[in-house]
Amino acid sequence: MEKIIRIAVQKSGRLSEDSLKLIKECGIKFYNGTGKLKSTSTNFPIEFLFLRDDDIPGYVSDGVADLGIVGENELVEKNKEVETLKKLGFSKCRLSLAIPKGEKYTGIDYFEGKNIATSYPKILGDYLQKKNINAEIHEISGSVEIAPSIGLAEGICDIVSSGSTLMMNGLKEVEEIFNSEAVLIANKELADWKKEIVDKLLFRINAVQKGKSNKYVLLNAPNESLDKIISLIPGMRSPTILPLAQKGWSSVHSVISEDQFWENIEELRTAGAEGILVVPIEKMVI
Ligand code: ATP
Ligand code: MG
Repeated sequence: MEKIIRIAVQKSGRLSEDSLKLIKECGIKFYNGTGKLKSTSTNFPIEFLFLRDDDIPGYVSDGVADLGIVGENELVEKNKEVETLKKLGFSKCRLSLAIPKGEKYTGIDYFEGKNIATSYPKILGDYLQKKNINAEIHEISGSVEIAPSIGLAEGICDIVSSGSTLMMNGLKEVEEIFNSEAVLIANKELADWKKEIVDKLLFRINAVQKGKSNKYVLLNAPNESLDKIISLIPGMRSPTILPLAQKGWSSVHSVISEDQFWENIEELRTAGAEGILVVPIEKMVI
């Protein structure tokens, strides 16, 4: 039998583009034609299943797929037994409670005895229980924002990113109850040979993520300030120093996190650094 693992990704929606981009950045090639529900990589032992995101936690816990990429909101809502391997940093959103704009919000007690429409009955139910609120949860699968205006519910609990959909439907956000981003999940009982392939994939994902949060920095500096500059941008092992054609000057090359670069920019300039270039890094293996 050919040794290959299966990963479930969203077929089309707010997770799919970034999921596939991450896989491509990991150097994994595959054909993704429209309407294709299954595809095998041509250069990595992995097969893709393109599914609705609702089905991904279940497929991974049943072992139909070994891995999956899904939003934490969907994962917690479906309450399936899987292992979360990694947060992926994309498809960030929040689940919030919202009520009609004209209503006066008095705190979470507002919802006592009220009727709330949502596609996330479990997450909402757990939240209300934690807050000791008794409310009626009305489960609907989509277009939740319309519920109050048609008299179906007094409040809603739904995904919010910018809040513009709420506004268009005459609602206001009053409580944030859950924060979500895309995660890589795995079946809990993977065979050892599958784990080895998963580790190779994780190694690549880590290299891509590290690359994104770091920058390659090049700058020119007078030789007398090199010690100070090296202390500000220490790099992976230590910076590269190359002499410039102009005597008494050097070019310094280093790798640092983007945050560290901005924190140190003034000190670098004060120390005499000039001609500073900041270049993206595609992958980084430490
Ligand atoms: P499917 O047809 O696969 O069931 P869907 O309609 O349930 O798709 P999408 O709207 O594509 O879901 O959203 C998929 C996931 O992306 C959500 O579960 C959530 O984790 C995340 N998400 C939703 N809305 C946003 C947003 N506005 N910004 C970023 N991420 C979002
Ligand atoms: Mg869905």
